[in-house]
Amino acid sequence: MSYENYEAFGISRKVADLSEEICSSLSDRFAAADKVAEQCQMKVLGAMQKNKVSAACFAGTTGYGHDDLGRDTLEKVYADVFHTDAALVRGQITCGTHALAVALMANLLPGDEMLCPAGKPYDTLEEVIGIRDCPGSLKEYGVTYRQVDLLPDCSFDYDGIKAAINERTKLVEIQRSKGYDMRPTFSVAQIGELIKFIKGIKPEIIVMVDNCYGEFVELLEPSDVGADLTVGSLIKNPGGGLAPIGGYICGRMDLIERCSYRLTAPGIGSDVGASLMLNTQLYQGLFLAPTVVAAAVKGAVFAAALYERLGFTVVPKSSEERYDIIQSIELGSKERLVAFCRGIQFSAPVDSYVTPVPSPLPGYGDEVIMAAGAFVQGSSIELSADGPIRPPYAVFFQGGLTFPHIKLGIMKSLQELINDGLLEL
Ligand SMILES: *Cc1c(COP(=O)(O)O)cnc(C)c1O
Repeated sequence: MSYENYEAFGISRKVADLSEEICSSLSDRFAAADKVAEQCQMKVLGAMQKNKVSAACFAGTTGYGHDDLGRDTLEKVYADVFHTDAALVRGQITCGTHALAVALMANLLPGDEMLCPAGKPYDTLEEVIGIRDCPGSLKEYGVTYRQVDLLPDCSFDYDGIKAAINERTKLVEIQRSKGYDMRPTFSVAQIGELIKFIKGIKPEIIVMVDNCYGEFVELLEPSDVGADLTVGSLIKNPGGGLAPIGGYICGRMDLIERCSYRLTAPGIGSDVGASLMLNTQLYQGLFLAPTVVAAAVKGAVFAAALYERLGFTVVPKSSEERYDIIQSIELGSKERLVAFCRGIQFSAPVDSYVTPVPSPLPGYGDEVIMAAGAFVQGSSIELSADGPIRPPYAVFFQGGLTFPHIKLGIMKSLQELINDGLLEL
């Protein structure tokens, strides 16, 4: 790569040279990510062929959306990719939180208890559960909540989990990705062990996994290791950057049926829900998702290696296995966090001229800064960086549809830190 191309983006020679050096040291890691993408591509392709995806599937329906071939076939494709009986994949699921809320509210009844056996759930679920009071929360409907935190070494507290499971424990929620925490992301294998342990104590417990950011990073998904419900957002990994909206819930037939009744109405369930003009993007996005995810993984490894070299604490480390596409970097000050996000924003294809600033965000406790210049608003499979304004001022950076774009974004973030005098090379 000639330096002049980077110079046009305000990147200094030092930053460019260091980035080149780091990238060339990572060829084995990059090859491993491509290998996973290849396997996942076969999985997606196989599911599309098996279900006879055809041009007829791209026609949309309107109104009630009865007999929507594209929508119904897409749900079969998702069920096959995740190896589940059934799936609900809809544009009417507005985001990841909504998908998770539907799965919880459909399967928890008054008097039931929900258990998080591996630490706190994602911030936006606090209101859904009622950890922070909110009208319409599970708590308001008489569903209680229990949580077992991870041990200090971030392993599962098996004794604590055993003690927490009782006759009312109906559903267990496990979050694969670290979200806005500094704990490591769980591997599918680790989640499988935890599920086995829980089902060994009480087999009828419904295990639901928040799979956001994890899809296609590994060869297996949580549904391959015993999860009854696997839930995620289409403006993250499985939408491949093309899905403009949507969420999915894959799992056991009876549980998915309940989800469909909660999403629309009892009795109607999944029979309604017009796909409008969404089908092509949802199919094509799923088709591209494995390679898009691989690019994001490679970008995350690059960012980890670069910032590690500069002495920052990064989670995961550049040498560690990846179980999601998120990279966090502890920047240690608000100023650095803001400068990093500016670099990501300034390298975006969309809205590159705006400057991100910290602000309150519905569903989140602290102020949050977010950088994203995305084709789909808020899409975090596209290159984005965000972080709550609280110590250790960790930036959570994820996505990017192509590796060259991610690489530039990370270089630009470092350049912003240097330009602000917050770091020296
Ligand atoms: C993104 C995400 C969610 C859902 O967030 P939305 O912004 O509502 O799509 C839930 N859990 C995790 C771990 C996530 O990363």
